[in-house]
Amino acid sequence: MIELQVKTSSRNQMVDITGKVQNNIPDGCSGIVYVYVPHTTAAVTINEGADPSVKNDILNYLQELIPHNAGYTHLEGNSDAHIKSSFIGNSVCLLVENGELILGTWQAVFFCEFDGPRNRKVYLKIIER
Ligand code: ZN
Repeated sequence: MIELQVKTSSRNQMVDITGKVQNNIPDGCSGIVYVYVPHTTAAVTINEGADPSVKNDILNYLQELIPHNAGYTHLEGNSDAHIKSSFIGNSVCLLVENGELILGTWQAVFFCEFDGPRNRKVYLKIIER
């Protein structure tokens, strides 16, 4: 298993980790790479990486849908982050062919921070076939 470090700089943020994932795939490898976020207030997703307004729209819409304070009972005060984490999900599975991630032209892999800034981890498991 491979462990990536992701340092986030704001409470809500989408960090493009496509390059970090790609850099850990051995030359010539074909199979799948399972990308797993071991946190309860963060997530991982695949979406448009070319136009940064897309990730801003996603974050803004999530904030509208799931406000920071909405009478939650969790005493840590970060229930919005827990809910967002479950909405987006904590893993994605990517195809790998000849050492290259197979993504659509506009797709990127994003680590989603919902309770930053923090130092976070992402686990990768490459399954060759
Ligand atoms: Zn909490």
